[in-house]
Amino acid sequence: MWGMLAHLGSALDLFLADSTKTTLVVAAIVSAVTLIWLSRNLDFSAKIRSAFMYAHVALLLFPPVFFATTLSCKQVGLCEVGLTQTLLFVIPITLILGLAFGLLIVPLLHRLRSQPESGKWQRFVNGQSDRLGLHKAPDVFIVDSGRPEAFSTGGLKPAMFISIGMLEVLTRRQIEAVLLHELGHIQEGSHALKPITWLLRALYPEPVLAPAAIVAEEERKADAFAASVQKTDVHLNRAKRKMAE
Ligand SMILES: [Zn+2]
Repeated sequence: MWGMLAHLGSALDLFLADSTKTTLVVAAIVSAVTLIWLSRNLDFSAKIRSAFMYAHVALLLFPPVFFATTLSCKQVGLCEVGLTQTLLFVIPITLILGLAFGLLIVPLLHRLRSQPESGKWQRFVNGQSDRLGLHKAPDVFIVDSGRPEAFSTGGLKPAMFISIGMLEVLTRRQIEAVLLHELGHIQEGSHALKPITWLLRALYPEPVLAPAAIVAEEERKADAFAASVQKTDVHLNRAKRKMAE
């Protein structure tokens, strides 16, 4: 263990003595800080803000990974580098797998657990997507649950999920309002924000990212979208009240 720390110390000295390497590392850190600061600007769309956050994480991972690739047995004499390199690579690999799980696997699991709806709700969503010029209309799925609920996912193809309980308690216009709210999320790209916000929330204290403000802003935009299509927020507000009961 001590041997490993000693070789790390000398390897780090060598690494930092190289001005090209140090410049790259400093540039990565400065860019990472700039991007997280830009991502707090709610005027940018969710797509752009989430792109900033993913790039932020990638840039933060760059220095340890870069350092790991420069380690060699020859440099240190002893071959404990293998273990150090593995440890330095485990962190980025874990993060990438975690993000891929949130972005791709979670939406897939929701699809597998639900029934596709190919009737009037899918036709309604197709029509609205056409009107918006979305090149892929989201798939509508029915969740076998008595609890009124609705949500949507991104992934390879966006999807909307509405429960049997929701279809039972809402009127046609209210259901359309809920579908439009979800379509608003899909159009805005809210789904890409979720896993990265969740990850950064675990890394940073509240004020750095203000996750509550991010969620509130996405909900506000989705509500505004539904209200603008229906030209009233009455149906959406009634639907929300009924679903909260
Ligand atoms: Zn929402």
